[in-house]
Amino acid sequence: MDIINSVSEMQQRSLAARAAGQRIAFVPTMGFLHQGHLSLLEEGRKRGDLLVLSIFVNPTQFGQGEDYEDYPRDLQRDAELAAQAGVDVIFAPTASEMYPKGYATYIDVEGITETLCGASRPGHFRGVTTVVNKLFNIVQPHLALFGNKDFQQLAVIRRMVLDQNTPVEIIGMPIFREPDGLAMSSRNVYLSGSRRQQALVLSQAIETARQLVAVGETDSAALIANLTEMISRQPDAQIDYVRICHQLSLQDQEQIDSDSVLLLAVFIGSTRLIDNSFLLDATNPAQ
Ligand code: AMP
Repeated sequence: MDIINSVSEMQQRSLAARAAGQRIAFVPTMGFLHQGHLSLLEEGRKRGDLLVLSIFVNPTQFGQGEDYEDYPRDLQRDAELAAQAGVDVIFAPTASEMYPKGYATYIDVEGITETLCGASRPGHFRGVTTVVNKLFNIVQPHLALFGNKDFQQLAVIRRMVLDQNTPVEIIGMPIFREPDGLAMSSRNVYLSGSRRQQALVLSQAIETARQLVAVGETDSAALIANLTEMISRQPDAQIDYVRICHQLSLQDQEQIDSDSVLLLAVFIGSTRLIDNSFLLDATNPAQ
């Protein structure tokens, strides 16, 4: 396994792979790998000849006062896990390699970036699309794998790729959870003691919603009121949003149907957690 820090070296490596007829599978991450990331790598390993993992804590997607400086980083541990997962190349550039002096170009997807996390974190998706577009130009993958955990991010990236005619196949992957239901996230390391326990309220709210829908509840407002009350019972929980949206438009839905996705963003103390699930998807209950 190689670790490449330079943009031009990564581009040359990818060009050589393409010239040799290899299919490049790509998993972009911010590192501090967990099982969720590893599930993407496992699928990428099956689908590609050259498996590239990027590890880059992207400054442009963090807002003022967010956790850019504190975001957990451990390249050595990540490299060990990546090698075990069969990664061929880790691309781990510095911020100045990605955004050299004079950098001035940003990708902005309109509409679906303005709601949900985009409303709470202004500029976040502009940073995400800018870096993912750059990474696609550098790694030149045939396919790229993203987690449904970041449901809106995946929708935004699909929109960008469609609008920009980017020749990359986007593959969405199920949410990988801890045995007790908590969606895996690098930020879970911030949760200690009772807050780790309180964080379970997100997956419990999803489970409750799915059960209510399964016995006939179709009214979004009633469900949202129920879940809001449930989450608010946790002493350190502060709701950012509890919404039920159409999976493609991300517009609020009044009535539940098979396109309905429940999306949650909740602060547990100062840690912002997100989770989501389809509400009427018999084939994919645990997501
Ligand atoms: P991150 O390092 O948090 O930027 O995540 C990198 C990729 O891993 C994104 O496509 C995420 O959606 C995905 N991911 C993060 N957590 C999970 C999870 N629990 N299950 C599946 N995919 C995940």
